[in-house]
Amino acid sequence: MQLKVFKFGGASVKDAEGFINVGKILQKYKDDKIVIVVSAMGKTTNALEEVVKSYYAGDGKAAELLENIKNNHFQLISQLIPVSAEIMDDINDTFVEIDWILEESPHDDYDYAYDQIVSIGELLSSKILAHYLHYMKISSTWLDIRDVILTDNTYRDARIQWETTQTNAKNKIEPLLKSANHVVTQGFIGSTSENFTTTLGREGSDYTAAILSYCLDAESMHIWKDVPGVLTGDPRIFDEVIKLPRLSYKEAIEMTYYGAKVIHPKTIKPIQNKQIPLYVRPFLDPASEGTVISDQKELSYPPIIVIEPDQTLLHISTNDFSFVAEHHLSMIFALLAKYRLKVNMMRNTAISFTVCVNNIPERIKKFENELGQEFKMITDNDLELVTIRHFNEDVLKDMKKNKLILFEEKLQDTVQMVVRNLPKMKRKETQ
Ligand code: ASP
Ligand code: MG
Repeated sequence: MQLKVFKFGGASVKDAEGFINVGKILQKYKDDKIVIVVSAMGKTTNALEEVVKSYYAGDGKAAELLENIKNNHFQLISQLIPVSAEIMDDINDTFVEIDWILEESPHDDYDYAYDQIVSIGELLSSKILAHYLHYMKISSTWLDIRDVILTDNTYRDARIQWETTQTNAKNKIEPLLKSANHVVTQGFIGSTSENFTTTLGREGSDYTAAILSYCLDAESMHIWKDVPGVLTGDPRIFDEVIKLPRLSYKEAIEMTYYGAKVIHPKTIKPIQNKQIPLYVRPFLDPASEGTVISDQKELSYPPIIVIEPDQTLLHISTNDFSFVAEHHLSMIFALLAKYRLKVNMMRNTAISFTVCVNNIPERIKKFENELGQEFKMITDNDLELVTIRHFNEDVLKDMKKNKLILFEEKLQDTVQMVVRNLPKMKRKETQ
């Protein structure tokens, strides 16, 4: 079946206007077969995370925080469509399950509870979109993606069980697309074989769209965003960034792995495997093609800068001055994997090993504890990882201004450095 997969992120459905704009885009494609993957509205996922935190802290505020989220959703619905009892019930049912959880005392497994609660963000936004499209008379149907995407039970970072997911996708989605043109479903969430809800990791909706594109052999995948496409740098940090009209899968993987927030890093592999082109497009200018990511060879790129904040350098050395040799390194790597600390840069010397990881204090603490007495570990915090692809000397010089460089490495066309931003020192006025 010829079909496309569209993904709308939280920013595109942050308010009633957003939903209306999504409706306008879909009007243009109303005769095409499309699977629509949607994220939670605006900052809903963050707000739901606060509910979970407060539930576990036992500070008595969880119900109130959930009530605020409920009000926001109902307020938006009333701005968007005539609210019927049926719609009210549909939305209320989604909240009721969480109300029940909050009445019980917290489950031992925080991550499990997190997924049961936080996942309602996507259920809500997708239901609202489905009701809106129905109201707009755009042929569509709502699908609970938990009936399709099967995962293991690594809560908050669930792994896909590809074979079953693929069979489910074909068996469940294709028939739906025969009776309606669009299927509206959720990003970010899945289900274990025991029917518990899982999530795929923050910002995981792009990944969902890629999984579905892969499983359904989509002709193309489209991510609708609040930027013109993939840019040469984050427009919130840099002036004069430019849009890249074309990008190879390889370039896209390199950029996103080191922190380019434009697409989730796990998105590329499934679509690359099936050579499905990915369009990153501006939802405010649907006529624009944005950036197309596909199997482009021999493209020449301008310098592309990616900044990943909140990095930590771990300096690990042996207490007795014995060499940090292979057996030590293999143990260190086993622990990095165990505590899921992502290795962004690394270097070893005779008696030390230095590694730059994303700063996740709880996991770093556990990692350090398990390293044991044999090792000493010193950490540097509040650092940034700067990755410059296709660098030139000008850009490099510019990027080093007002920075203390703790670690730098050049490989082919890429420079990476771990830096601390320095305040500009200015001489005091003499009196
Ligand atoms: N709503 C989820 C999050 O904010 C997933 C997503 O937006 O992709 O992390
Ligand atoms: Mg989001």
